[in-house]
This record gives sequence, structure tokens and C-alpha cells, in this order.
Amino acid sequence: MAGIRKLPSVLVDRIAAGEVVERPASVVKELVENSIDAGATHVIVETQAGGMQSILIRDNGSGIPFDELPLAVERHATSKIESLDDLEHILSYGFRGEALAAISSVSYLEIRSTHAGADTGGLLRARGGTIEEHRIDAPTEGTGIHVQELFYTTPARRKFLKSERSEDTAIHKELLRLAFAAPELHLEYYRDGKPIFNLPSDNDLRSRIATVYGPDFAARLLYVEERRDALVLTGFIGDDRSYRSQADRQFTTVNRRPVEIRHLPFFVRKAYGELIPEGGKPIFFLNLEVDSTRLDVNVHPTKKEVRLTDEALLHGLIMAACQRALFPDTPLPFLRGK
Ligand code: ADP
Ligand code: MG
Repeated sequence: MAGIRKLPSVLVDRIAAGEVVERPASVVKELVENSIDAGATHVIVETQAGGMQSILIRDNGSGIPFDELPLAVERHATSKIESLDDLEHILSYGFRGEALAAISSVSYLEIRSTHAGADTGGLLRARGGTIEEHRIDAPTEGTGIHVQELFYTTPARRKFLKSERSEDTAIHKELLRLAFAAPELHLEYYRDGKPIFNLPSDNDLRSRIATVYGPDFAARLLYVEERRDALVLTGFIGDDRSYRSQADRQFTTVNRRPVEIRHLPFFVRKAYGELIPEGGKPIFFLNLEVDSTRLDVNVHPTKKEVRLTDEALLHGLIMAACQRALFPDTPLPFLRGK
């Protein structure tokens, strides 16, 4: 042992990277969220070999100014918040300025971007967190980010990744979560050169669901809307005969962010009671609006989970919302206090 030393920043980033980017799907999520934050209306995602070999994301967003490209891959560098006060009122997906730093520290990263209005574009290449090239390039539309050889710097992490197939499944699910969170986004997804989906811009959540799962499926969904204090739950649930054997059509957002809400699936299931058989998984697409001051999004580096202050209130809200939709003619047993 050589005494206490400060770690070089490249190593710090590499250690922190494990928290932000667990697997290729988390890279896809962070990059598409960045595109949406940049005002993109069209995002194209292409992956190779479960995203382990290559992830390419192109958008038509506002782009990154040439001079700021090196900052984009630096830790705690963000264009989205400036002060502690902003932290209380986050509307963008990102704010930590960590994703690109983390991703670049464990991969070979290339950014091509043209800032809105500029007549030249910029190119930045980084390997394992070290910038190798930064130069003016031909102008492109928006931003393209290419991540190759993910986790090549951390072979242990790479070993823990599951098969290509399960990484592909996780990426697909992540993209659907974003597609339902942002129905107006035109989103294309190609896997190993093959088109998986091409979702045009949809007007609202129900038409997005129809685009993804077909009009018959969407037509059978029940609209849900319920309010308690400052909590508002809206969206769609399966009707009294709809369920699935897997939880593959369960999607939640909080203030339009794709996040999971702990215990929500349990309370939705409970609302169905005996309408669906034991082991049946209800179908739902639900958004919870909650005042951002009652919400802590700063809980987990991947922002997968948000914490609410009123958990009991939320559980009552979920039950009431679902039961009102499922049993429109019956006074809510829940509200009668049974
Ligand atoms: P955060 O999203 O938390 O700000 P990131 O590391 O994900 O942090 O991104 C760093 C910065 O790079 C962003 O704040 C933004 O200014 C810029 N950026 C990243 N991706 C894009 C993109 N697709 N279009 C425009 N700017 C981007
Ligand atoms: Mg981000």
C-alpha cells in the first residue's frame, strides 16, 4: 500500500460508469433521452450484437456547439441545470451530466453534431474516456452518437452481460418505454441491420398504443383518470377480460418520465380481483402527474425509480382509478371502506 491518493479522473469515471450504464439498454435509454431533451422529433436507433458491438443514435435535435463537444463527455457537465433551485424543478430527462462521461469512459465513443444554425459540424472521438480527436466536420442534421465496444475497458462487466438476445430484448423494452412516454416522437429501431419498428409521430398515447400493438388491442383499453390532492393518474388499462401471462404490457411514467413505481403493479392487479385468473398480469399504460416538489428523481443514478412522499395516498389512488374504470356502474367498494 502506498498511502492515500486521489484517483485519476479517468479511473473515477470508469468506476462511476458502472452505476449509470449497467448494460447496453441503459446506454440506449440515456442517449435517446438526450435526443428528446435536445428537442428532437425524430430519433433513429441502430444496434449490433445486442448493443455490445455498436449502438448508433441519430437525432434531429438542436445539436452541440463545436466548442462544447469536449465538455459533453466531461463529468458533471450539463447544459440542463445551473443551480440548486433548478434541481427542484427538473423538466428534462437529464441533469446530472454523467451519462456521456460514463459511456465514453467504458467504450469507443464518437459524436458528430451540428449546432442549430451553424454552417459547420463537429466531430469528437474518445476512447476509454480520453479525447483522441476533436475537429470541424461537414455539417449534419442534429446529433449522431456512436458507441462501440461497450465495456471493453471493464472486461468483468462485459462478462456479466447476458446473451445478445436478452440484451436485445432489454433494448427493445427500453425503447417502447420511451415510445409510450413520448408518443409524438418519430422513433425508428434497427437491430443488426434489420428494421424492428418505425413508429411515426402519434398524436396521443392511445394512438401510440394502436401503432405498436394494433387498433383492436387499443380499442379494448379502458381510459383511467383519477385525482387525489396533487396526484393525478391517467392512462389506459386492459378491460375486464384482458390480461397477459407476462408483465410485458405494463408501462408507467411519472411526469412523463419512464420510471417504475414501486407496488403499482400490485395495486392494479388487486383492483382486478377475480376478473383475471391467478398469475394473470394486467395490462396498463399509466402516467402519474405529481408536483415535482413531492417527487425525488435524484434517487438512483439511472433514474429508474422515483420516490413519492405520499405512498399510501398513491395506493388508494391506483385502486380507485382502476376500479372506477372496471366497474363503472358500481359504487367503488374501495371508497365504501370495505
Ligand atoms: P445530461 O443529460 O445529464 O445533461 P449527459 O452526459 O447525458 O448529461 O449529456 C451532457 C450534455 O451533452 C447535455 O447536457 C447536452 O448539452 C449535450 N448533449 C448530449 N446529447 C445530446 C444530443 N443528442 N443533442 C444535443 N445535445 C446533447
Ligand atoms: Mg443525459
